Amino acid sequence: MNWKSEKQIVLDAAQELSRKGLVIGTMGNVSLRLPESKDGLIAITPSNRYYESLTAEDIVIINLSGDVVEGRLKPSSEKMLHTGIYKKRPDINAIIHFHSLYSSTVAVSFKSIPPILEDQVICLGGEIRVSGYAFSGSIELDDNVIEALDDNKAVILANHGALSAGYTMREAFTNCEMLEKTAHVFINAALLDEVNRLSAAAIEKGRSLFNSGYGNSQ
Ligand SMILES: [Zn+2]
Repeated sequence: MNWKSEKQIVLDAAQELSRKGLVIGTMGNVSLRLPESKDGLIAITPSNRYYESLTAEDIVIINLSGDVVEGRLKPSSEKMLHTGIYKKRPDINAIIHFHSLYSSTVAVSFKSIPPILEDQVICLGGEIRVSGYAFSGSIELDDNVIEALDDNKAVILANHGALSAGYTMREAFTNCEMLEKTAHVFINAALLDEVNRLSAAAIEKGRSLFNSGYGNSQ
């Protein structure tokens, strides 16, 4: 089996996602850009499989056109969303797509999360936008999500869920949990009728830490 350690990283993240309740059943998907893959290869979770029953061998290797390079199973139906992001963002090597409770709540409200917390801006890049709705697996969805993600590391998918990214899988996972926490705080603050944004100066400071690759530490 090639790319054994990279497949293991994808599997571990997918199983942790499931264990922590950030996805239910076979939903969501995880991918990692393979290092030194000049052809642009990625390791991605297979379609419609329960994460707890997967082994590293079940992780599929695809190229940036979405063709299977290695693996017995069908890759995730949202594979082109992942390849689209990798093509546009050389600073991203890992992507997690998940359907967690609070991010999904915001996804139903169509309300972007304004910059309300320092760690949100430092890790995710600032305001978290909600992409326009399109059905799962469609080209329209890919375009909408890539546009709403822009140069951030997290985005919410209308009526669907959310996506986080990172320079490493560890960073992508931290950003997944960071987005879920931010969404939870946003909803709680809205219930208190007081959603206060960070000051412009704080947003600028946080954004410059984000741009310096704060989350890239190992
Ligand atoms: Zn999904």
